[in-house]
Amino acid sequence: MQRLTGWRLEGMALPAKMPEHNGGGEAAAADVRRSRHQRLSRSLRSVVPVVLLLLAPCAVFFFASSNVALPRIRIEYACREATAASVTAVNTPSPPLPPPPPPPPPPSPPPSPPPPPPSPPPPPPPTPSPPPPTPSPPPPAPSVGDDRDAQRPLRQLRQLTDQPYSLGPAMSGYDARRAEWLRAHPHFPSFVTPWRPRVLMVTGSAPRRCKDPEGDHVLLRALKNKVDYCRVHGFDIFYSNTVLDAEMSGFWTKLPLLRTLMLAHPEAELLWWVDSDVVFTDMLFEPPWGKYAQHNLVIHGWDGAVYDAKTWLGLNAGSFIIRNCQWSLDLLDAWAPMGPPGPVRNMYGKIFAQTLTNRPPYEADDQSALVYLLVTQRERWGDKVFLESSYSLHGFWANIVDRFEEMRRKWRPGLGDDRWPLITHFVGCKPCGEQDASYEAERCRRGMDRAFNFADDQILELYGFAHESLDTMAVRRVRNETGRPLDADDEQLGRLLHPAFRAARPM
Ligand code: UDP
Ligand code: MN
Repeated sequence: MQRLTGWRLEGMALPAKMPEHNGGGEAAAADVRRSRHQRLSRSLRSVVPVVLLLLAPCAVFFFASSNVALPRIRIEYACREATAASVTAVNTPSPPLPPPPPPPPPPSPPPSPPPPPPSPPPPPPPTPSPPPPTPSPPPPAPSVGDDRDAQRPLRQLRQLTDQPYSLGPAMSGYDARRAEWLRAHPHFPSFVTPWRPRVLMVTGSAPRRCKDPEGDHVLLRALKNKVDYCRVHGFDIFYSNTVLDAEMSGFWTKLPLLRTLMLAHPEAELLWWVDSDVVFTDMLFEPPWGKYAQHNLVIHGWDGAVYDAKTWLGLNAGSFIIRNCQWSLDLLDAWAPMGPPGPVRNMYGKIFAQTLTNRPPYEADDQSALVYLLVTQRERWGDKVFLESSYSLHGFWANIVDRFEEMRRKWRPGLGDDRWPLITHFVGCKPCGEQDASYEAERCRRGMDRAFNFADDQILELYGFAHESLDTMAVRRVRNETGRPLDADDEQLGRLLHPAFRAARPM
């Protein structure tokens, strides 16, 4: 509009300038001036109404409504763009990935806009199998991934015609290279003693603060609980609040994280993934490491439920122990391509629904993906996977949290099983306030507080304190102070407070 106004003024000046160059004597000059003046007046008389006519709406636009000034319009346009972007991001984690490598000519047009680069054939087709009978009912369905924390749009969702997702360059000969590294660094042994592997616990949560204002406090208590457990047992711990790879969002985040940590910590023999909503409720129990010497993945589950019943609830991916070795890198490589959001996750969700039992066709989750791998490629992975159910490497919270007082009356820590569960996992609770919680927030919160207090009491008691009850934060002294504190011969105290002493004893 401004450009239009300026052009009009220039046009008005042109007729006035031209005669000046053609003038002769005084009279002629006066005539010229007079006629120029008349022409100017005439042209002004004819042009001014046109200009006013054009300017009037603009003036109304500018002054009558301060809300719709031009810059504002531009901002609104930008906002609309942002809204569209965040809509895209609903099913899409975050920042753009490097586009998949350009493959050969397109076999068929891509299924949805915008057109992706052409590529090799899509991932393997489903292999439907008749659903076998469901085993004893394990915990309820883990919920679907929450990718809404990512606001930045992906440049483009991976399409089925694109190259399958990969965690990184293919790794080979890793075991030999790691062994070489360990030989070269004898001060970082992968076994603390011959029977005790070095363990790195890995956990984490979304990068953003919780939507529920209480959520971050829950996460803090959950981390404190893990720190306590690790300190008592002499484990390292890594907490991630980063999504390392935009295509591995939500609960898929653990895959690139584990791979990164394996490669960065060759000294760690075992990595133990625990969800943020996992609470250690037996501070004394430690997994029987010797039992797993021939295995590379230890996960809570049942052989019959996975291999026979093919139920996606046959194991729980909220807590598992994985060895730092080539086999595990290969497993992560086979697992991850089912995770990219959009068409890939959706397609695998449907494949799982056809292959696994009682699994609705919603988008692929990491747990179903692992069951799918074990069911369809048992010969490839089965031998090295230990499905553990002799203690609670995962324990479903709703079956546990109301029994803590009874447990205290009947049992002591160190059992790790249903009598005194190693882990109470708040599956489906979403303490951070995500939309897809399966249980009432208040019930979850109460259960979590009780589990935290129950676990914390096992620590506090070593220092002579305990919570007044499992439903309160308040603590009281439970032991008289003594002038000879170092004389304490409480075995539990000795074992818990001196991990080095404990580590020296064979399991
Ligand atoms: N998680 C993460 N980063 C994220 C989102 C999730 O590390 O951006 C982890 C977090 O530890 C969380 C786990 O993924 O506990 C799996 O999600 P959740 O426990 O909510 O699933 P559920 O056990 O309810 O099926
Ligand atoms: Mn969980």
